[in-house]
Amino acid sequence: MDLCNLSVIRELMAEAGISFRKEYGQNFLTNRIIPEEIAENCTDSLDSMIIEIGPGIGCLTAELASRYKKVIAVEIDKGLIPVLNKTLSEFDNVTVINEDVMKLDIKALVDRYSEGIPVSVCANLPYYITTPILMHLIESGVKFSSITVMVQNEVAARLAAKPGTADYGAITAVIGYYGEVRKLFKVSAGSFVPMPKVDSAVVRIDLYDEKPYVPKDEKLFRNIIKAAFEMRRKTLSNAIGAKLGFSKAAVAEALRSLGLDENVRGERLSVSDFVKLSDALCNN
Ligand code: SAM
Repeated sequence: MDLCNLSVIRELMAEAGISFRKEYGQNFLTNRIIPEEIAENCTDSLDSMIIEIGPGIGCLTAELASRYKKVIAVEIDKGLIPVLNKTLSEFDNVTVINEDVMKLDIKALVDRYSEGIPVSVCANLPYYITTPILMHLIESGVKFSSITVMVQNEVAARLAAKPGTADYGAITAVIGYYGEVRKLFKVSAGSFVPMPKVDSAVVRIDLYDEKPYVPKDEKLFRNIIKAAFEMRRKTLSNAIGAKLGFSKAAVAEALRSLGLDENVRGERLSVSDFVKLSDALCNN
């Protein structure tokens, strides 16, 4: 069964008495090469357990199940469960869980199913909730090998941006703290049904075993990043001073001690700069 074929998708959904649910960000892939490419490039170890978020009717799930040891697919839409039971019936290495991923204890899920093998995430994410899902995964405490996700092209550009560019933002610095981000390829809006308004792209995050830079106070580090990008038009000294209650002079002094100009803006700072700045300020 070609799960990217438009007639097959429509027929499966009609049989189940369901239609596309906009509130769940349902845009299903109709270009067969894309799920193949995503599955092929999402992680290096075939002996992996893959967590998929939002299997839809299962086009990516089937590609993952035929390559990797185990797949756990988490789907919020109850109406899709009978469809998935049918389309994935040939695979005995897939477990479908009908749940909102944001309500799932990811650590407990991994402890229950992974049996010590490497774990990665691979998903065509629902766009209404991309960033919260990424943060939920990354903050779960699970040591994922990689997280590969299809997101809106502009979000992909943000995730993979370099410091000093227009796309560089808080999410770039926060995710960059946990791992290395690569944009794999772009996917045109015409590859989905219903067709979204914008193009998409696939990004892969390889999580660090050992983070190269670790702040003394992670909360302060995160707050500094938040302040830096919430008040983008201000210099960093003004933004951090205003938001976090440090004196402008103390921030300027900390920046100078790192060899940075006191009038620098947040988007110029790399993750390591943010870590050093946070450490310089944490005893103030
Ligand atoms: N994987 C399919 C594909 O590539 O064709 C479908 C991807 S579609 C963009 C997003 C999927 O995520 C939908 O199946 C939707 O029902 C599901 N979804 C949306 N919100 C979810 C949530 N909070 N938890 C789990 N699944 C969710």
